[in-house]
Amino acid sequence: MGASRIGVWLIGAGGGVAATTLLGLTALQKGLTAPTGLVTALPEFAALPLADWGDFVAAGHEIRDVSVLQAAECLAAQSHALNPALIAACRPELEAIGGRVRPGTLVGVGDAIEALAAPGIPRGESPRQALDRIAEDLRAFVRENQVAHLVVVNVASTEPPIDAALVPPRWCDVEPLLDRPDDCPLPASSLYAIAAFEVGASYINFTPSLGAAPAALDELARLRGVRHMGCDGKTGETLLKSVLAPMFRQRNLQVMSWVGHNIFGNMDSRVLSDPRNKQSKLSSKMRLLEEILGYQPQALVSIERIDSLGDWKTAWDHIHFAGFLNTPMVLQCIWQGCDSLLAAPLVLDLIRLTDLAARRGETGTLTFLASFFKSPYGVTEHRFDRQYQMLEAWAAKQRDC
Ligand code: NAD
Repeated sequence: MGASRIGVWLIGAGGGVAATTLLGLTALQKGLTAPTGLVTALPEFAALPLADWGDFVAAGHEIRDVSVLQAAECLAAQSHALNPALIAACRPELEAIGGRVRPGTLVGVGDAIEALAAPGIPRGESPRQALDRIAEDLRAFVRENQVAHLVVVNVASTEPPIDAALVPPRWCDVEPLLDRPDDCPLPASSLYAIAAFEVGASYINFTPSLGAAPAALDELARLRGVRHMGCDGKTGETLLKSVLAPMFRQRNLQVMSWVGHNIFGNMDSRVLSDPRNKQSKLSSKMRLLEEILGYQPQALVSIERIDSLGDWKTAWDHIHFAGFLNTPMVLQCIWQGCDSLLAAPLVLDLIRLTDLAARRGETGTLTFLASFFKSPYGVTEHRFDRQYQMLEAWAAKQRDC
């Protein structure tokens, strides 16, 4: 049988976002749910030759001893985020996906993530060994499942920040570092990206981790004729910021300070309790205000773990601004969302759109996907409506092809 399916490979397959994505994908394949929350289900994308949900086959990497089914059941039991009856209806498919999940790598992930790992996960691998092992897992999956195009999506825990400037700008200077563990600054998220590129797969970084951000990795993607985009899915408080900040700018209201306080209690919040891992997320959340407003107001973003909230995130934003005659005023808003359910449809949209971009021969950074990310690669436009127009313009071009 010729390769015709689209592979979905989730890094962090046993996490909340991954389990919800895989449950959602299965439910869509079985016609058990409506496409609410999916951007690609909007009328403006109806004429695009997007893949059908039935075309997808999924697997992934994980470092904890948890199956996809257990992760979904845990979200249902602890956070009441998923419907147990839907999980039961999708059980055989989730078990089959779980059977295809392979052990991930711990290279450069930092102490907080390493502490999560099951005893059987390889430790002390060199970057080269990890890369070869990951690439072989991807190749075997492609071979065994008649996959024509593979999309690797990083939904693993957020790694501590690494200065992209520490990575040499040319791929030819980065490649030899893979054999020199002490000199290689690349963390797991980047090794997964390199492995994806080496096997001809697309790579999407839904996290703030380094991933394919360095110029050398973008160069590798172009050399191998593949594509990538990131980073850090824009699902909640930052989405709201990118919608509201342009309003203040366009009414010439002077934002004096913007405070965003986020509380939630899932496993992501546990990793983000480590100040180093938290810094990656904070930097990603802080970036856009100055770009949109044209000046930097005093800004504070906090992320705190509150166990009892589970996957339900509350974000309180307090915006202090000056109006006419320099009169101070305040906008406060409270966003209460279920983290995994906000993220999962975006992951599915990204896979579908990336697949179409692959069929259209696009390589390098997929900037038309900017509206999905807090810190979109290669794009300084942070206004949500303008980013969405970029997506619409791309879709219109695909329709006219
Ligand atoms: P989670 O903690 O539930 O899941 C992460 C999973 O990744 C865990 O199962 C963990 O064991 C696994 N993992 C960690 N390091 C790994 C590695 N090196 N290789 C393979 N697996 C690894 O977190 P989540 O809520 O599912 O979020 C996933 C990621 O998406 C996080 O980085 C988060 O910051 C990011 N994100 C989430 C949202 C959202 O709205 N939920 C928005 C933007 C970004």
